Amino acid sequence: MKGMIQGFTTQIEALNDAKISVNYAVNLAEQTIPLEGGEGLTFRYVGSAACAHCGVSMINAGWDYCVDCFRSLARCDLCVMSPNRCHHHKGTCREPEWGDSFCMQPHVVYLALAHVPKVGITRAGREWDRWAAQGAHKALRLMTVPTRRLAGVVERHLSQWITDRTDWRKLVTGQRGDFSLTELATDLRQRTPDLVRFRSDQISATEVECALWEIDPLETHLSFPIQNYSPAKQLRVDAKEGVVADNLQGVIGGYLLLSRGVMSMQSLSRGDIQLEVSAPVVLEEPLQKSLF
Ligand SMILES: [Zn+2]
Repeated sequence: MKGMIQGFTTQIEALNDAKISVNYAVNLAEQTIPLEGGEGLTFRYVGSAACAHCGVSMINAGWDYCVDCFRSLARCDLCVMSPNRCHHHKGTCREPEWGDSFCMQPHVVYLALAHVPKVGITRAGREWDRWAAQGAHKALRLMTVPTRRLAGVVERHLSQWITDRTDWRKLVTGQRGDFSLTELATDLRQRTPDLVRFRSDQISATEVECALWEIDPLETHLSFPIQNYSPAKQLRVDAKEGVVADNLQGVIGGYLLLSRGVMSMQSLSRGDIQLEVSAPVVLEEPLQKSLF
């Protein structure tokens, strides 16, 4: 089976109240193929990446958006990476309507554990997708707040005690830490007994009053399709590295785990890579270096 990669689908299934399983499929032009592990995958760079927003073809492969979209879309603004810098209330959002539907909506502040516990935020209702995208093996909700900006302010406040970063190398090599998120949640709540301190000229009292700590936070456990982890090496398919063939060993948090390294699913979704799915491929032995 062969086709241009159009993207990937994440399927999330709740096994019970506290357990979800995450599965993946690749979307080719004509069909969707489940990625279970054990398949041979051959990636070919065929060129002409397209802007993810306007579809214009881009010479500068490696980017998701063209230069014009990068300058005009609110989702490319700095505040998407640093939500506490949201400036919607000043009337300077690049796309105020998009901001209304994306940012000015209830958000959840959560704890997720991959190798170390991290604090993060996501739109309420999208927690499972977010935790799956980060490769967390457990997570819990800390608080629900009315806007993305307030979530960003709380996240930044909590990040003085707990990281807001993840390390992809530890994720793909399977270094999993074991911490009780419930205990950590209790501890963070004690350190931040009330939210009134977040009130300022930019965050209204009503907004702060609507922020609610989760009373009895429940840990959700996530499982991913993994037979083996990978070496911490990012493999690329581009104009220079035209073809990469390897066997799939699993998928976690946005990475295909291959026998010789990993590929980021985002980097494969720009419309410039063809994929052939087959029986396992025979990998060439590394060339023996002559001693002479
Ligand atoms: Zn564009």
